[in-house]
Amino acid sequence: MAFVITSPCVAEKAGECATVCPVDCIVEDREQFFINPDLCIDCGACAAVCPVFAIVEEYELTPAQEPYLEKAEKFFGIST
Ligand code: SF4
Repeated sequence: MAFVITSPCVAEKAGECATVCPVDCIVEDREQFFINPDLCIDCGACAAVCPVFAIVEEYELTPAQEPYLEKAEKFFGIST
């Protein structure tokens, strides 16, 4: 399980999440930040500081948010 950064990040890109992540698994791309789902330890620190509530636990993703997990996997070159 991992946390996933969803659509509100695209307009915001605040970046506090990357600062607080204890395992440095959040990386900035042009449009948004991504969480590496293979490295995330599920601590929730990033979700607690996101000002736009963009960060969601994987099992709580809505169908509309699920493509953001796929985007993260693609960004990090993870095959599913
Ligand atoms: Fe990093 Fe914790 Fe957020 Fe996972 S849940 S991305 S380990 S801060």
